[in-house]
Amino acid sequence: MLYPHSDLLSKVEREVDRRKEEIISFLQDAVRIPSVSCDEAQIVEFLRGKLVALGFDQAVIDKIGNVYGTVRGTKGGKTLVYNGHVDHVPPGEMEDPYSAKIIDGREFGVRGPVIYGRATADMKSGIVSMIMGAHIASEIAGHLKENLTVTGVVMEDATPGHPGPKYLVEKDGLSGDAAIITESTNLGLNLGHRGSSLIVVRFKGKSAHASEPSRGVNALYHASKFISGFEMIRKSFPRHEVLGYPTAAITDVKVYPGALNVIPERCDVFIDFRYIPEYRMGELIRQIENLISRLKTEDNAVTGEASIVRKHLRSHTGLESETEAVNLPFYTSPSEELVKT
Ligand SMILES: [Zn+2]
Repeated sequence: MLYPHSDLLSKVEREVDRRKEEIISFLQDAVRIPSVSCDEAQIVEFLRGKLVALGFDQAVIDKIGNVYGTVRGTKGGKTLVYNGHVDHVPPGEMEDPYSAKIIDGREFGVRGPVIYGRATADMKSGIVSMIMGAHIASEIAGHLKENLTVTGVVMEDATPGHPGPKYLVEKDGLSGDAAIITESTNLGLNLGHRGSSLIVVRFKGKSAHASEPSRGVNALYHASKFISGFEMIRKSFPRHEVLGYPTAAITDVKVYPGALNVIPERCDVFIDFRYIPEYRMGELIRQIENLISRLKTEDNAVTGEASIVRKHLRSHTGLESETEAVNLPFYTSPSEELVKT
């Protein structure tokens, strides 16, 4: 068993109840700080201040702008990592997105009062819970046997590939024996998540004036044949016993040059792909290539090429990074020690 025995757990629960008001106002303060992806300077400073005030042994903001802290255990041979992201998607048309007011939850189908505001559920409540949980557990125990690290990462909602958490693992060298992600799951314990990636299939043609289409090769027509055939690929996906089926959805089509009186010389088809450990991305790309080869036997002019979307981003600390839009799937077996604990 890595961590708390049931006695400690019930003491932690009682202490959480006693400090309920403090925890609620910590979450409200966090929600009141806007932290759209790549613009998280204020929230990470706020959280680092909290880690210091709560007596964490370490409270760091790294080069890309992630914040993390550790409660060191007396034995300290093992580390349990709690992970969450501090950024969120833009509020769009949402009314009063950073008010953090307490309202009746009925509006959202929830019984009792709730905190209203962008990123409350996804996932500042998770961030506040893990920080307060780590603090209260170590305070009650007097000391923890093993290390407990909490991480608030940036740029998670910016793109699959997650430059913030990636930096934490690959550049900061942060590691642990087990990790728990505190994304909202209605308080359920989920053992894994499908991977996700963005794929672009690029069709090339030849531009011409629309008044003389026979002088050009219309890349949009080639793409439309591909889109019709894509349905068959989707039907061949295998099912994972817990994570379910992979999904692939065509979400956007862009033509170039995009003038209404010009035959498109290029057409990009974008695919959002969610996948399971048994059906990796290479398999989908192989099937896409097979489909394009089939289309080519019908029309030799078809040229399509699949690749993973890349995104160039700049962190709130000014660090530039180029990220492949890929998150790997993961699944922890119910027989693992962490799950049984
Ligand atoms: Zn999230």
